[in-house]
Amino acid sequence: MSWRDSAACLGTFDPAFFPAKGHQSNRHAKAICATCPVTAECLDYSLTYRCYYGIWGGLTEKERRKVKRQREAVAVPEGKKRCSKCGWVKRLDQFPRQRAIKDGRTSACRTCRNELARDNRRAGSWA
Ligand code: SF4
Ligand SMILES: [Zn+2]
Repeated sequence: MSWRDSAACLGTFDPAFFPAKGHQSNRHAKAICATCPVTAECLDYSLTYRCYYGIWGGLTEKERRKVKRQREAVAVPEGKKRCSKCGWVKRLDQFPRQRAIKDGRTSACRTCRNELARDNRRAGSWA
């Protein structure tokens, strides 16, 4: 089961989540997000997969950019590393042990990599 299965917006297809610039209020979408149990996961997902458009995790595009900047501004302490996808600073054991990780060529955390693999498997099964 993925976090999406618990989403308050599941199956709503509400256009308020993707308001046209300057035309539509996002208040309705934000009200739904306010009741959602997976706002943190939703926000992380949108930052990880660069979903720029619409309301995610109860935040607008502009508000999410601010969160991203704030996360990036946090210094990375010794023994930790920042995931290039979700932007969280995590312990090194939360990254796959590979040369590529150590030399910085790729640095997505295990959670992000698992999420991506799951999405790829799903996409494959729909094809
Ligand atoms: S936080 Fe909002 S957009 Fe994200 S899953 Fe919940 S209701 Fe949907
Ligand atoms: Zn990550």
